[in-house]
Amino acid sequence: MVKKAGKRIKHIPQRTCVGCRQVLPKRSLIRIVHTSDGVQIDRTGKAAGRGAYLHDSRSCWEKGLKGALAHALKVELGENDYQVLHNFLNSLPDEIAQTLQETTPQG
Ligand SMILES: [Zn+2]
Repeated sequence: MVKKAGKRIKHIPQRTCVGCRQVLPKRSLIRIVHTSDGVQIDRTGKAAGRGAYLHDSRSCWEKGLKGALAHALKVELGENDYQVLHNFLNSLPDEIAQTLQETTPQG
């Protein structure tokens, strides 16, 4: 028997989507990491390097690619980086049918 589950409350790390600025549990976001090889999609969430987070939503990626991502990563994105990011963006499903409009922005 493995006694792992205690009564400890797990701390869930929160991250900001650089596209829409929503703060969410890390797991529901996709990590983009800047490594010495350039920008990569970090599917494990554990790659070394400066990371930024985006939803798996095209609109967030499009916003991110317009500058928010480069800003968050504190790098200038090169042609290869955009290629990687665009490839990923294109692999995303079209805007999710279910309405996300219920969250009314405040302020
Ligand atoms: Zn987002």
